[in-house]
Amino acid sequence: MKKYVYFFGAGKAEGTGEMKELLGGKGAGLAEMTHIGLPVPAGFTITTEACDYFFKHGRKLPRELSAEVAANLKRLERVTGKKLGDAEDPLLVSVRSGSARSMPGMMETILNLGLNAGSVAALARKTKNERFAWDAYRRFVQMYSTVVIGLAKEELEAKLRALKARLGVKDDTQVTAEGWRGLVAEYKAHFRRKTGKEFPEGPQEQLWDAIGAVFESWMAEKAVTYRRVEKITGLLGTAVSVVQMVFGNLGENSGTGVCFTRDPSTGEKHFYGDFLINAQGEDVVAGIRTPMPLQEMARRMPKVYEQLEHARRLLETHYRDMQDMEFTVEEGKLYMLQTRVGKRTPAATFRIAADMVRERLISKEEALLRIKPEDIERLFYPVIDQSVARTELARRQLATGINAVPGAAVGKAVFTAHEAEDWAQRGEKVILVRRETSPEDVGGMFVAQGILTATGGKTSHAAVVARGWGKCCVVGCERLDIDYAQKLMRANGRVVRQGEWITLDGSEGSVYEGEVALVMPELPPVYHTLLGWADKIRRLGVHANADTAHDARKAREMGAEGIGLCRTEHMFFKDFEQPERSIERQLAIQEMIIADNREARRKALEKLLPFQRRDFVNLFKVMDGCPVIIRLIDPPLHEFVPHDREKQAELARKIGIDVEVVARRVEQLREANPMLGHRGCRLAITYPEILEMQVRAIIEAAIECKKQGVKVLPEVMHPLTLDRKELALLADATRRVADEIIKKSGIKLRYLVGTMIELPRAALLADQVAEVADFFSFGTNDLTQTVMGLSRDDAGRFLPDYVDEKKAGIFSADPFQSIDVEGVGLLIKWAIERGRATRPKLEIGICGEHAGDAASVKFCHQVGMDYVSPSPFRVPVARLAAAQAVIEERAAGKKRRQAKLKKH
Ligand code: PEP
Ligand code: MG
Repeated sequence: MKKYVYFFGAGKAEGTGEMKELLGGKGAGLAEMTHIGLPVPAGFTITTEACDYFFKHGRKLPRELSAEVAANLKRLERVTGKKLGDAEDPLLVSVRSGSARSMPGMMETILNLGLNAGSVAALARKTKNERFAWDAYRRFVQMYSTVVIGLAKEELEAKLRALKARLGVKDDTQVTAEGWRGLVAEYKAHFRRKTGKEFPEGPQEQLWDAIGAVFESWMAEKAVTYRRVEKITGLLGTAVSVVQMVFGNLGENSGTGVCFTRDPSTGEKHFYGDFLINAQGEDVVAGIRTPMPLQEMARRMPKVYEQLEHARRLLETHYRDMQDMEFTVEEGKLYMLQTRVGKRTPAATFRIAADMVRERLISKEEALLRIKPEDIERLFYPVIDQSVARTELARRQLATGINAVPGAAVGKAVFTAHEAEDWAQRGEKVILVRRETSPEDVGGMFVAQGILTATGGKTSHAAVVARGWGKCCVVGCERLDIDYAQKLMRANGRVVRQGEWITLDGSEGSVYEGEVALVMPELPPVYHTLLGWADKIRRLGVHANADTAHDARKAREMGAEGIGLCRTEHMFFKDFEQPERSIERQLAIQEMIIADNREARRKALEKLLPFQRRDFVNLFKVMDGCPVIIRLIDPPLHEFVPHDREKQAELARKIGIDVEVVARRVEQLREANPMLGHRGCRLAITYPEILEMQVRAIIEAAIECKKQGVKVLPEVMHPLTLDRKELALLADATRRVADEIIKKSGIKLRYLVGTMIELPRAALLADQVAEVADFFSFGTNDLTQTVMGLSRDDAGRFLPDYVDEKKAGIFSADPFQSIDVEGVGLLIKWAIERGRATRPKLEIGICGEHAGDAASVKFCHQVGMDYVSPSPFRVPVARLAAAQAVIEERAAGKKRRQAKLKKH
């Protein structure tokens, strides 16, 4: 039979610290602390499996649970020598939530359970403290009413405030026993009015209701949101720990506190915490009174402090990680109520990990496993200052969307890219707000502090471009009603006009009104040490996606070893090195597209050639000695031409043709489904002169660099290939142009020709495709789109429902962010196996957005890719994840070997 309840107390525990999945962090911590001899109040933990059962069976508890709880309650009463709800010597308990992953403050807890008219009197007698007993009771009635029944907390708080006003006192500690007794009566009357029932007196009823309410809180809005934001998936639910109450509010010899074994902000090794004399735990959390630092406690209660210091040392060496502990002192006796791995700032994460390696508490591998991708990401982006109150943020919140690129940004809202450029030129800080963005907007996007769009998902144009620059970006903010004509947006009942300040939080996907204070984190001194360890361990190479020399410099600074994707079309609209020439190159590309015959197209391409060649020269120079994979033109051409009449007229004038010709050509380019239309290498099949110009630019640039002593390793990549024959045509054309130039130059130059794998057909036929490709690079943005049949630009509208456990909960993560291992992953594995069967040395990488997602990087390692290529700012995450993949692989191998040995 399944065991749903685990007891701990009197120095023994049925559970252990290892059983976090089943007992939750709190239950496992209490069991483990009991084992290692720390003073822990007795109790029992109901497992997360019971919670899982509860939700799977229409909120019914497993039948056998009631007998198990009854038996454990008896045992608890025996150990403590008290009885729940007794009118002589009552046992009071807390009923606490706690899942395998810490979710601070997201779920519920009920304290002082077991109080009723009889037991409150007994408690007063026993403690000789009537005021204390009634204070405990009013707290219980309030918690029960709000947490179990769901009555509004504010209404009860208002009654407390009114009571204090009547008594003419400021602090809760000044309220008398009589005062609390009156408040309990008021609360109970309120309860009756609201529910039509009496407040429950029976301790059994109270207990079971509380257990149900704690389970219920697993699915409360805030808990679900927290799990989504923190990417916590795969847990069964919360456990419930029923623990004997100990009281920190029994007088000056009692108190309660929270402490960390090291400083959670800096990581420094000093005992850090807060202590409140004569208080219950919730008072510390609620911040009603100002607590004293632990050092003050050392002075006031030296003996207890010494015990606490002992617990600190014991727990840290036992768990080999920084612990966050809660404790209570009841009349001079210390009780440990909780220990868990402490949350810390990214800077502290690095420092603690490195310090613990030095102290020989953990190995380098363990240190690396402790760093989360977010810890690294948060080091490179400005963030909202922690001192800004949550309530302040809630007040300012305009809308939420998809958190496309982390970090935060403050600026004036501007609704067109052109104006954003003008404003920025004048020295203004702007946030570009668009329904969606297109390549035409890159200038405005580049100068903006942050980008906000009403539509789109994590691989939409705005997200991809912003990520490349490490620029804060929130997309898919469906609630925004953007009015371009009036230059304003409406959200949450408010209006933001052009020029008004807004703040974006790209880590959470929030938009706030006004200027919120930001801070730039400093790189921790040991950052390079830890990433150096990662580089030594990892097997995967880490390249970066970079379109310009500027991006490439950033990529190298972040540790990239090559360029895995240079999207040439991103160079068409802005000249990053000579901005004053941007218009000139825009015109050249537009003229090329508008041209309706080969000759005219060739002429326009001639103009574009020097620009592209200069781009590549600069890129190669920055990447001296590293491979550079350059992809030929990819997006549908209509993205590069103007759609409104005014701009068409302007273009016609500039290139000296009739506006009707421009309009007709733009109309011709219109497609019902451009993402599946005339794009990718299909453009080069139809217009081979584009391929010729781009290959020429690449090879001539490479030769020029080589002459200057730069080590160049160019790789020409064809996007969206369908099959062998198509790629063979393109590869032949590429080699013809390249070889002729090389031959003429008299310089020796090695280059590769390969393809992106972005379509299921190419992946399925990878063995044939590999016959004509030197390399594969998985374009998982398009591959996800085409395998799933979900538009990468539109799916943002409904995908949140797909990953929200409270809604459809169909996916555990956004497939455009983290590779869908089951579906898309299967195809990738197939393509790698088949590709390498044909060409064992086939170079294989990934350049879709997934390359910067830690879970996807681990997948890429497992399937044997050679490298991953994320945007420059995500390079450090990829370096870390690639190392973690090796460490985890070794650990899994060791486990398997051990299991095998055991079997024999
Ligand atoms: C991809 O599809 O994964 C890719 C890298 O190309 P793009 O995002 O430019 O379509
Ligand atoms: Mg693509």
